[in-house]
Amino acid sequence: MNLVEKDLKYIWHPCSQMKDYETFKPIVIEEGEGIYLYDINGNEYIDAISSWWCNLFGHSNKRINNAINNQINKLEHVIFANFTHKPAIELCERIINLAPNGLNKVFFTDNGSASVECALKMSFQYHAQVGNTKKQKFVAITDAYHGETIGALSVGDLDLYSKVYNPIMLDTKRVDGPDCYRCKYNKERKTCDAECFESMEDYVKESHEEIASIIIEPMLQGAAGMKIYSPIYLKKLRQLCHKYDIHLIADEIAVGFGRTGKTFACEHADITPDFMCLSKGLTAGYVPMALVLTKDNIYDAFYDDYNTYKAFMHSHTYSGNPIGCSIANEVLNIFEDEKILCKNEEKSKYFTNLLNESFKEHKHVGEIRSIGLINAIELVEDKNLKLGFDSDLRVGYKIYKKALKKGVLLRPLGNVIYFNPPYVISKSDMKKIVRVCKETMDEVLESLKVEVL
Ligand SMILES: *Cc1c(COP(=O)(O)O)cnc(C)c1O
Repeated sequence: MNLVEKDLKYIWHPCSQMKDYETFKPIVIEEGEGIYLYDINGNEYIDAISSWWCNLFGHSNKRINNAINNQINKLEHVIFANFTHKPAIELCERIINLAPNGLNKVFFTDNGSASVECALKMSFQYHAQVGNTKKQKFVAITDAYHGETIGALSVGDLDLYSKVYNPIMLDTKRVDGPDCYRCKYNKERKTCDAECFESMEDYVKESHEEIASIIIEPMLQGAAGMKIYSPIYLKKLRQLCHKYDIHLIADEIAVGFGRTGKTFACEHADITPDFMCLSKGLTAGYVPMALVLTKDNIYDAFYDDYNTYKAFMHSHTYSGNPIGCSIANEVLNIFEDEKILCKNEEKSKYFTNLLNESFKEHKHVGEIRSIGLINAIELVEDKNLKLGFDSDLRVGYKIYKKALKKGVLLRPLGNVIYFNPPYVISKSDMKKIVRVCKETMDEVLESLKVEVL
């Protein structure tokens, strides 16, 4: 049996209908370097999506590899209850200094979904322990994505991932969130004052007594199709939460570590959430690790004698893993030494211009969205009606398959093709990505016409 046959015999891949693999076999990657991945047959692929949005500085990055080597020869792991180590202490001190003011305590989990679970649990327990016993409900906005364990799914709003589990999910509330491309409030978006916040305000005014927290992806709803919205929405949300003693949970898992042009997306609105979840870029795409940052007043509500049962009894075997922490410290070093945010600004402009040149006039490109180095184009069947292609046509999936053959790893979300590359991307990489994307898109759209006829 060759590798592909063995893979299909033994492995169940994530986020996949495995039957698709009958005709589209898994690609066996042997090596990575910078923005490139190489398969066992010597084909190269540009990783335009940072391998699910986590790789920051390219594959097999020398500096990070060294940091791992240095750490691994000292300490691979140690129980984190009652024990600690230099890499974790250094990391938490640095993260607190970088994070919005007031986030002073760090809790470790071992993936993004777990950090969301953790923030939800902390919020719930906090309210119970300070006597807000009615505050038990979580609120999210439409099209939200916060991960895929049951609690995290419960605050998400994408049926694709969650529908089948509805009977076993937490009873949470979804409120209509921003939808800028299809904005109902001001068609030109010239005078946006986040009027769409109205639905949140109305719901919270009515139900605040039972709301523990509101969770949101700041600035950009990733899995929803890289939907970008105004920082004014976040400012209003922060004020509203303050007013009604509701926690604001900022899920920065996808947008943290410079993706939107600032270290953390909350900075666009100059707000401090009550909880901030970090993962993905935190470890540059090397190992799973996540953090929950929170405030002193929340920490203090858990601080008491053991037999009051107020402690936060949440743990993960790999909490505070030293290898993960050493990688994260090196990530922060690279940000500083190589002035990454500054360099990214220029790259972002270049990429966005390139996309506008190539797609602005395209009859099936409804919107081009950009923030930081994240860019996306939404394909529509009809530009005037902003009508999307039927999801059964699987336009995105077809583009994905064809673009791979041409050496570019895109992974569209429905009808949205997005680019979320590692920061080591060069101008010529960008040109190739955009060229291949356009070619592929046109081929796929052309083939659809034939199919429809
Ligand atoms: C990826 C992601 C998660 C889940 O993180 P995992 O590590 O995949 O569990 C949660 N929220 C957002 C916004 C994400 O992008």
